[in-house]
Amino acid sequence: MTKVGTGMTKGNAGMTKVGTGMTKGNVGMTKGGAEMAWLQRARNPLFFESVFIYDGRMKRLFALVTMLSIIPGLAVAAAFDYPMRAEAVADNVYAIITPTRELPNAGNGGWNSNSAFVVTDAGVLLFDSGSSAGIGEAIKNTIATVTRQPVRWIVNSHAHGDHWLGNAAFADSVEGIFATAEVIDAIERDGAGWVGRFDRMTGGVTGDSVILAPDRSVDRETELSLGGETVVFMLSGGSHSPGDLMLWLPRVKVLVSGDVVYSDRMPSTNAGDLRQWIGMLDRLQQLQPRVVIPGHGAVTDISGLDRLHSLLSQLWAAVEEGVDEGLSDFEMLPRVSESLAPFRSHYPGLDEKLRRDLSHVFLQVEAAAFE
Ligand SMILES: [Zn+2]
Repeated sequence: MTKVGTGMTKGNAGMTKVGTGMTKGNVGMTKGGAEMAWLQRARNPLFFESVFIYDGRMKRLFALVTMLSIIPGLAVAAAFDYPMRAEAVADNVYAIITPTRELPNAGNGGWNSNSAFVVTDAGVLLFDSGSSAGIGEAIKNTIATVTRQPVRWIVNSHAHGDHWLGNAAFADSVEGIFATAEVIDAIERDGAGWVGRFDRMTGGVTGDSVILAPDRSVDRETELSLGGETVVFMLSGGSHSPGDLMLWLPRVKVLVSGDVVYSDRMPSTNAGDLRQWIGMLDRLQQLQPRVVIPGHGAVTDISGLDRLHSLLSQLWAAVEEGVDEGLSDFEMLPRVSESLAPFRSHYPGLDEKLRRDLSHVFLQVEAAAFE
């Protein structure tokens, strides 16, 4: 990690954007002359270094340094041959898609989530870095099959350990790791827990990953120029989990969604806000993406957004029907499961996750009934 604090300015976390046809949401986007001027300057790479906002989080600089130490007591990672390849989805944009639809285990070596990367003239932007430093190394080797550029920026979509524990593999080249403040807090609070949990789940394959926490806080929808590529950070409003961050690439109309989209695996709905999520999928459809790289599952397109919207809408409607009839979550489980039958073949793990997550959805639907 080099020069983490260089050029950062404190105060006014005013990274805003204009244009690109986005609708207003919960993310504080503004339009107007001042922002347009800002945008012009932001497109100047010389200006770029000075626009990062650290919003008073100087303590994180020190946390970052102190966390660069091995967590004692965990097994040393075993060598594992991850079957990764860079899948070109658009000009200079690649997906690294895991074949598994399961949680981290010994068989998949803990590699159960997708990554994506954008090659620019000034370095690589990596979105999510996997479940361990070893998986991060494998991602690094996979990126090297298409470019000699180093990873200069990382985006961590959310705080679940399968999306950021590989950060440490890029410590020698990365200049900034982006996440929302909620996610940075969660990683600093729970990071070591994720390391131990995955090590146990994989029988020691993921080992003792060093924690390299994000250091650049994104608190609203933000457009930046990174290496000449225009990127838009989008917030989901806690759709899938608190502080989810997505990446929109307007030049190629690629959406890198993190876990706000699961293309062919049942999404986890136990940490999010289902109604917000359904509305967010509407908004993502309005972007008319040509390609969607999901957090889990195969690369998809707008049809994957549409299908997930239908699934989550049906889930909400079925639970609402049960609540209206005064059923408990346990009592309504069979009929909710039955109503989702048309989706079962497309979303492996549907019943397993429904059993686990239904009580969470139930509480949201019940609360909505009293609004
Ligand atoms: Zn995930």
